[in-house]
Amino acid sequence: MSEPASELVSGLAAEFAVRAEKLDAVDELRGKRDAFVLDDVTYLDGNSLGALPSVVPGRVEDVVRRQWGELRIRSWEESGWWTAPERIGDRIAPLVGAAPGQVVVGDSTSVNVFKALVGAVRMAGDADRSGRDEILVDATTFPTDGYIAESAARMTGCTLRPVAPAEVPGVLGDRTAAVLLNHVDYRTGRLHDLPALTATVHEAGAYVVWDLCHSAGALPVGLDEHGVDLAVGCTYKYLNGGPGSPAYLYVRRELQDRFDSPLPGWNSHAEPFGMRGDYQPASGAPRGRVGTPDILSMLALEAALEVWDGVPVEAVRAKSLALTDFFLECVTAYVPEGRVECLTPVAHEERGSQIALRCHDAGDVMKRLIERGVVGDFRAPDVLRFGFTPLYVGFADVERAARVLARTLG
Ligand SMILES: *Cc1c(COP(=O)(O)O)cnc(C)c1O
Repeated sequence: MSEPASELVSGLAAEFAVRAEKLDAVDELRGKRDAFVLDDVTYLDGNSLGALPSVVPGRVEDVVRRQWGELRIRSWEESGWWTAPERIGDRIAPLVGAAPGQVVVGDSTSVNVFKALVGAVRMAGDADRSGRDEILVDATTFPTDGYIAESAARMTGCTLRPVAPAEVPGVLGDRTAAVLLNHVDYRTGRLHDLPALTATVHEAGAYVVWDLCHSAGALPVGLDEHGVDLAVGCTYKYLNGGPGSPAYLYVRRELQDRFDSPLPGWNSHAEPFGMRGDYQPASGAPRGRVGTPDILSMLALEAALEVWDGVPVEAVRAKSLALTDFFLECVTAYVPEGRVECLTPVAHEERGSQIALRCHDAGDVMKRLIERGVVGDFRAPDVLRFGFTPLYVGFADVERAARVLARTLG
């Protein structure tokens, strides 16, 4: 689909279009786009809902018609339904830098934030004896994490202190039980320093929970390498698992025996089919389970994860940075001075896989962009968000998005 460029940008556009073509020609992930169901729309909203991998509809059809329709109850064993949460957790593990046996899939991110945060506070010990009666939460967090942290604090007799991630080192102390942080800020796209912040939290004797919703599938996380305690994340953004696909919970191996889940369901029992009256937690990752897994969504996710076969996360990160660099360059060249302000850090080590532009009338602007075939999203009150999923976004998409944005604003 070609866009008539305004006179202002037409000369530049020809030059950037040639560069985009060259960058696409040498892009080693280019072929991955064919593994997705896409059309002429420039889709820059994969940080909200990832595109559909082509393999998913057929798999879901099989799960419904054969596994459920024909095998019925036998599928819990014969189709591997019962063990799916750990099996799919192990498929996600390498994407977040975790060895097998530490990630379990199920429930929503919100629910897993609750399990992880209360679990972390319980590891820090009873507030009366340990004196650790504070939870620090990212003051810029995605709202659900903040709401749940507030409830978790009330339940555990802790005080909740909202703190900007950069301020965390100065606020940590003997009273800190747990810290809940977002790896990448959902609004600005700022990437926080997970290794340094994790080390600082540990020096203070506290536990850290990282929310990886906007980093898993977009950049290396290194959970094991950096000694992260607990982590959660969703699978419908950069992992393309589908609307409402189940989230995951990571508990570091050395902490698994001390993880005291605030939601102990029969699925996390050591002997789930013993149907006992007393609760005995399972060991390992299954301890993070609660109730019966959502098999249809879970097996759609399992199919979706096949697109990652043979894809190193490092290659994804390199392309993500190249895409966002190129977008910023095109926006700077095309968009009239002063119309947008970039909220995403320019430094690579502080940038996730999205670009957030502050813009007057951002809601209306995004509506017009979508009408013109460029899909990003609007975050109140004044932010245009563009997510760059390296598996299916190319450099020509980036050039087009910036050009259509300039035309819309011009
Ligand atoms: C997307 C997102 C969530 C979503 O939580 P759900 O329970 O899946 O609705 C939570 N936290 C962060 C940081 C997110 O970006």
